[in-house]
Amino acid sequence: MKRIVVLGAAESGVGAAVLAKKQGFDVFVSDMSTIQEKYKMMLDERQVEWEEGQHSEEKILTADEIIKSPGIPKEAPMVRKAVERGIPIISEIEFAGRYTDAQMVCITGSNGKTTTTSLIYHLFKTAGYDVGLAGNIGNSLALQVAETPHAWYVIELSSFQLDDMYRFRANIAILLNITPDHLDRYEHCMQHYVDAKMRILQNQTPTDSFIFWNDDPILRRELAKRCVPSAVYPFAERKEPGCTAYVESGRLVVEKPSVFAMPQGELSLTGRHNLYNSLAAAQAAHLAGIPTDVIRRGLSDFPGVEHRMERVAIVDGVQYINDSKATNVDACHYALEAMTAPTVLIIGGKDKGNDYEPIKPLVQQKCAALVYLGADNAKLHATFDALGLPVRDTHSMKACVQACRELAKPGYTVLLSPCCASFDLFKNMEDRGEQFKQLVIEN
Ligand code: ADP
Repeated sequence: MKRIVVLGAAESGVGAAVLAKKQGFDVFVSDMSTIQEKYKMMLDERQVEWEEGQHSEEKILTADEIIKSPGIPKEAPMVRKAVERGIPIISEIEFAGRYTDAQMVCITGSNGKTTTTSLIYHLFKTAGYDVGLAGNIGNSLALQVAETPHAWYVIELSSFQLDDMYRFRANIAILLNITPDHLDRYEHCMQHYVDAKMRILQNQTPTDSFIFWNDDPILRRELAKRCVPSAVYPFAERKEPGCTAYVESGRLVVEKPSVFAMPQGELSLTGRHNLYNSLAAAQAAHLAGIPTDVIRRGLSDFPGVEHRMERVAIVDGVQYINDSKATNVDACHYALEAMTAPTVLIIGGKDKGNDYEPIKPLVQQKCAALVYLGADNAKLHATFDALGLPVRDTHSMKACVQACRELAKPGYTVLLSPCCASFDLFKNMEDRGEQFKQLVIEN
């Protein structure tokens, strides 16, 4: 019997193990950390053998194939040993793709994946399609394929998932943008990261679709180098030659497969970055055959996604916005661009090698004050203090919200869009956003 070993027992790993068991493989799951109780139960109920707190070499290196969680880097000792032994390593999505004929709508990009994935899923649900939401967004594709199969899947793909995908085919692929991110996992080489993103195109055929942002300089350069096998659907803010989705005279227009238009003012998501996300989603839904009146309704009543430009409350005339998910400079750039009132920007955290130069002009233009929030704010001081804005140095969310309260006048906006990961002071970006919201509301 073929042996499948799953490294990492969280959502994707456990889903993969359940599917592998169902397909009749000899399955073993190994996690270096403690496995959450709910996942242990899922494995036990299905008689899948597992271990936690260690990787037992003799049980792992006997695998015919390894399914690796996207959170485990390829430099991890056990992964290296498996590679040395010539054991194929794949992702959960690659594995799940083998056992379904469903149509796959796959979304990747440096920013906007979760928003666009959620929006497309909302459009499919509004249309009454049999659809599953999967991938990086937190739901295992493999588990759904094993136990609650759907005709369509809308899948958020990170570069880490794409790294271990080989034969998987996206029927509709969306590449939103490529800006530097996660370079620590790509030998600090931008091209390696770009190559991972471009894997979304592999295995596409002429009957498949590729939707992408036409104005992304990196993407343009990459596409010029490559032969795209599928039908292309570029989108842009304005009508440009070849673009099939754009805004013209205040109307969002999708030209193919038929012409569909709606007033831009009806879009529920605001800001230029969200216009791109809405264009991509509208194009994907239209290609999937969703009626245009449903697309229009869905784009208008989409409630948005938590921690992404989320309006928290107006307190003492100050609007508080939680964009905790802005963990890189580009995301903060778009958030600042969308600001229409003097802004107190909360910035800082675990810096992933950020270059803040691109946002300096916007900070100068839009911000009334800066609140640094990190374990170590030295780089922020060195970068932004010279702009001459009022600055506060804080090391906890409590101190940060207090500082914002002191700095923001009625009519101002306080924006948490930190450019950085959260792990220096918080469990994760959700924890950071929730603490922020809680303290704002408690006021
Ligand atoms: P991802 O899943 O790729 O991290 P999210 O939808 O969670 O993307 O959004 C992450 C951050 O990027 C948020 O701060 C959001 O406001 C910003 N953002 C969303 N869409 C875009 C886009 N198309 N381009 C740039 N930034 C974006």
